[in-house]
Amino acid sequence: MKKILVTGGAGFVGSNLCRRLLKDGNEVICVDNLNTGRIENIKTLIYEKNFQFRNQNIVNPMEINGLDEIYNLACPASPPHYQKSPTYTIKTCVIGIINMLELAERNQAKIMQFSTSEVYGNPFVHPQTEGYWGNVNPIGIRACYDEGKRCAETLCFGYHREFGTKIKIIRIFNTYGPMMNPDDGRVVSNLITQALKGEDITLYGDGKQTRSFCYIDDLVEGIIRMMESRDEFLGPVNLGNPEEFMIKDLADIVLQLIPSKSKIIYLNLPEDDPMQRKPDISLAQKELNGWKPKISLKEGLANTIAYFKGII
Ligand code: UDP
Repeated sequence: MKKILVTGGAGFVGSNLCRRLLKDGNEVICVDNLNTGRIENIKTLIYEKNFQFRNQNIVNPMEINGLDEIYNLACPASPPHYQKSPTYTIKTCVIGIINMLELAERNQAKIMQFSTSEVYGNPFVHPQTEGYWGNVNPIGIRACYDEGKRCAETLCFGYHREFGTKIKIIRIFNTYGPMMNPDDGRVVSNLITQALKGEDITLYGDGKQTRSFCYIDDLVEGIIRMMESRDEFLGPVNLGNPEEFMIKDLADIVLQLIPSKSKIIYLNLPEDDPMQRKPDISLAQKELNGWKPKISLKEGLANTIAYFKGII
């Protein structure tokens, strides 16, 4: 049994990860300040004897002993949420990872940084490989998150080179599934909740921009395999589903799955919204025992719709 810290453990990805780590027989400490994380996401875990919840902000240093692994997820992740307070977001990314790297050092623990496809910005290379350095506007409205996550990667490599800290970096592409916040503001949660409520389906721009959507269980499997991969493999490694869709096609699929009176309306495209995004996952396949997503968009959406039906 390993003693594991998950920061941001009450969020969408964090709570799904905590559940898997507990199922695998570990002791899990979940730290979350509930800024965007939700206690409902962990309500079935809270009574398990190997699970502990602490309401804390990673911007403040913390002391926990005997840790084997740290998964650092804490950060608002949807564009409307991370843009609400840009300074809060970048402090969480930068000061947060410094505190977690220090904690990893004191414990001699392995630490995984949850980075993002946002480090590629509005990419000139398609699909995105880990070797591509990205195209990010450093003063744009997404920069607090994009540059914060880029700097966190830099800090991980800095600690590794200077102090030998055991690091792992993953870059997550758009992920969806149960435990997503219906008010998250991201495209999958927006479209499903709008269709379920019979409200207008909001497409930004002409809806021709692309994303690639990974179901949460596929992502969690990749995360676990990355933590268990050989020590010399630090990443960054892309984790995502390489099947690419235009946002307007996603809307059509959602409307096929949910009989609804909703009609599609077009709104302005937000500033710096990437036009295309699709991971190259050959590195993950090579290093993580052939890992690749197994759940199709239709199947994953059906599970996600069932979850949203239960909560809204
Ligand atoms: N989007 C949309 N309607 C919405 C929410 C998002 O058309 O209600 C678009 C958004 O402009 C972007 C894509 O869907 O091009 C994915 O947006 P999301 O906020 O989910 O995440 P991103 O990949 O941009 O971080």
